Amino acid sequence: MSDPRSEELSTRLAETRERLDAALAAAGRQDGVDLVVVTKFHPVGDVVRLARLGVRDLGENRVQEAAAKVADLSAADPELAAAVRWNMIGHIQSNKAAAVAGWADRVHSVDSVKVANGLEKGRARAAAEGERTGVLPLLLQLSLDGDTSRGGVARQDLPGLADHVAGLEHVRLAGLMVVPPLEGAPAVHFADAARVAEALRRDHPGADEFSAGMSGDLESAIAAGSTCVRVGTAILGPRPVV
Ligand SMILES: *Cc1c(COP(=O)(O)O)cnc(C)c1O
Repeated sequence: MSDPRSEELSTRLAETRERLDAALAAAGRQDGVDLVVVTKFHPVGDVVRLARLGVRDLGENRVQEAAAKVADLSAADPELAAAVRWNMIGHIQSNKAAAVAGWADRVHSVDSVKVANGLEKGRARAAAEGERTGVLPLLLQLSLDGDTSRGGVARQDLPGLADHVAGLEHVRLAGLMVVPPLEGAPAVHFADAARVAEALRRDHPGADEFSAGMSGDLESAIAAGSTCVRVGTAILGPRPVV
């Protein structure tokens, strides 16, 4: 387990955890923050290394790549596979949503009723087949600038989507997720999103997660109250070109 890549991942993981601790302290926060390590574009060998280093939350953004890695990890090491949680963080086409419910442990990128219904249907089917019986936590992805082509639900449509998800049986409303728009300061966007997350929590007390912050902006996300950061590059390095 002391191959050079594992050493590198271990060092970067430790550095990232130090950044998280420093950001929590700077924000005067006593609580913690979940770390989802984003393995997209990286080989399953890195997933195995990370899981052996104690990483429990893994993130993927493309349906096919994720499903393949989930299967590969199970084949490589069933015990390790049972210990990790797969987070779907990327755009989901509604006709692929049911399949995502077959392997995901948490979905951060729900942005339409169709996607929510697909996840519900897939989870119901998986439960009936005895595959996965747990209720699937869903976070609604908010589009802060209203450019929903980049994913996310427009803010005026968020309450309706939240009410819909709250009425489903095999999935549950767990919170809000945001990727800040390219224009403008992340801190301003995170503060804006945090207010939306708080309003959501007022309407749905169980929706207490706020997924915000990536390699480049996790400090300002934590200052705004993020409960879950999604970090790829800072731990795995640049993504291989495909
Ligand atoms: C890729 C990705 C991340 C991780 O980004 P890094 O800058 O590599 O940390 C986080 N969230 C989403 C939605 C992503 O697609």
